[in-house]
Amino acid sequence: MTLTESTTGTQQGTVVDGPALWSAQAQMPSILGRQLVIERGEGSYIFTAEGRRLFDGTAGLWHANVGHSHPELAQAAYDQMLKLETYHVFQRYANDRAIELGERLAAISPIERAKAILNSGGSDAIDVACKLARRHWQREGRGSKQIILSREHSYHGLHAYGTSIAGLDFNREGMGTDSLVPETARVSFDDIAQVEATILSIGAESIAAIVSEPIQGTGGVNPPAPGYLEGLQRLAREHDILLIVDEVITGFGRTGEWFASQRYGLEPDMVTFAKGVTSGYAPLGGVLVAPRLWEPFYVDDAATPIFRHGATYAGHATAAAVAIANLDVIERDGLVPRVRELEQVLRRELDALQQRSEAVVDVRVAGFLGGISLDERLDNARVSDRAVELGFITRPLRGNTLQLSPPFIVSDQEVVDYVAAIEQAITEEAAK
Ligand code: PMP
Repeated sequence: MTLTESTTGTQQGTVVDGPALWSAQAQMPSILGRQLVIERGEGSYIFTAEGRRLFDGTAGLWHANVGHSHPELAQAAYDQMLKLETYHVFQRYANDRAIELGERLAAISPIERAKAILNSGGSDAIDVACKLARRHWQREGRGSKQIILSREHSYHGLHAYGTSIAGLDFNREGMGTDSLVPETARVSFDDIAQVEATILSIGAESIAAIVSEPIQGTGGVNPPAPGYLEGLQRLAREHDILLIVDEVITGFGRTGEWFASQRYGLEPDMVTFAKGVTSGYAPLGGVLVAPRLWEPFYVDDAATPIFRHGATYAGHATAAAVAIANLDVIERDGLVPRVRELEQVLRRELDALQQRSEAVVDVRVAGFLGGISLDERLDNARVSDRAVELGFITRPLRGNTLQLSPPFIVSDQEVVDYVAAIEQAITEEAAK
């Protein structure tokens, strides 16, 4: 870390300089000199460059579901790269692993007869889903249906569409609040009557789709209000609006089903996924698409249109091979039913924590996802820093919340120890 005088721009002052890597979503001067540089992982633990061992209670950014440095996933990548690193899936080209992964995804998809569009991550997936929604209505001769609705407090990644539809306004700061992708609007995150009122005031003839996380993640671990998701599905059907369920966090077992759509009885038109599809071992995401959307693009007719989207790494063979190995591990090790047990343990521990601690105002659990909301006298970022000092990762989120989403491979005792460490961090901060 070095200090120099700013020589450019209008922000005068001392410049704190460090590594050439510009980190994501960080106030840079406040992180330099205290970055947690992770060098190694082993199961549910990560190790810093100085050799500190930390329990990865968030599974990184909700991705390391089978734990870190799994030899079978590493082997799958190695074997595939020696055979063929990748070949693209444009026009009549494809690769065998991308095709195989498509079949695997269709088999567990909450959508019957789904097609899978593959790409590099969750933000990508959101862009594709929103573009396909607009393309669908344009092809149907209803091109006025362009607006994408999304919920307050929602997070859908930070590509152009995700930035524009986010229910977290700060992510649009300085980027033209309403103009990056202009046709977007927010709806209530918990009140279905208000959602209906918004649809009626905008007019369904202008609305292409509504996007919703089943359980809001970055917005503070918010399970759906009773009846909310069912209400969204009903409104989408009544008003001819496509339903896009963003399962980037919840997909691949996190809620005790392959997808949260199955847990909540949803039949989406599109499902976006990423993270858990490879447990983070390779950058991969995508969209599962219902027949209503894909069939028109498959009609045997020279006039049938093309969905103009793709990228060099869409359907990357090594990423797909890793995803297949990851699905094999999840299936063989029974990790989806195991999540149902872990949900009970986490609920029991968080309920008990709330009983004991006055500093805890709310706890929320859905699947193996937990949120602890702290009293306003405490700062969740400081509590999270203290937990890290104690050797446990938890992340501060909106609503003075702490995120708990460990890998699926932890023992019951590790959940107990994790919540105990967070309680200690809370108690120590409250005593300051
Ligand atoms: N949607 C949701 C619900 C997410 O939680 C995230 C990432 N946290 C994204 C989309 C974006 O995914 P990615 O960071 O892989 O682009």
